[in-house]
Amino acid sequence: MAYECIVVPYDGSDHAQSALAAACGIAKGHDTKVHVVNVVPINIFPEVASTDPAAVVSPSYVTQKTYSELFDDTLLQIHQEMMGTIGNTFDELKEDQVTYEVIAHPSAVEGIIDYASDHNCDLIVMGRRGLGALRGLLGSVSYGVIRATKIPVLTVK
Ligand code: ATP
Ligand code: MG
Repeated sequence: MAYECIVVPYDGSDHAQSALAAACGIAKGHDTKVHVVNVVPINIFPEVASTDPAAVVSPSYVTQKTYSELFDDTLLQIHQEMMGTIGNTFDELKEDQVTYEVIAHPSAVEGIIDYASDHNCDLIVMGRRGLGALRGLLGSVSYGVIRATKIPVLTVK
């Protein structure tokens, strides 16, 4: 049985790169959709606003318009960086098979799970450091996702 929709949570790490390659192998030759998703912690935006003098209208506040633009610019910049690190990993898939997304969420674990459910995905492929034993095998995000979702999860070293 081919999968219909795979989510690959992506944080730019080596293990996440391995997860991309594994997802590519699973989707190749099928109509499987692959969604690569980087979850950005929502609390980075006040930090960006406070360090970018151009975004701050007065020393004490940022307007809604400026904040929205800053939000868009930040997500766009992260998206471009993500595309740069992914390179030609998915060259063997059809162009419309793969979607690259940056989303903001207070929790990486819940962001991944919400995204996968919203898109009716039937597999999550994520990276794994491969150190230690039992609990130590998994990082906090992969551990959290595996604990909280009913969608099958494949972890890749
Ligand atoms: P820790 O973050 O607990 O120190 P770690 O970074 O080695 O450990 P995880 O964060 O669980 O381990 O990362 C495992 C996998 O989870 C990554 O390979 C990636 O697939 C996914 N992941 C982690 N953080 C994010 C994120 N912010 N957005 C999308 N995917 C992520
Ligand atoms: Mg991590």
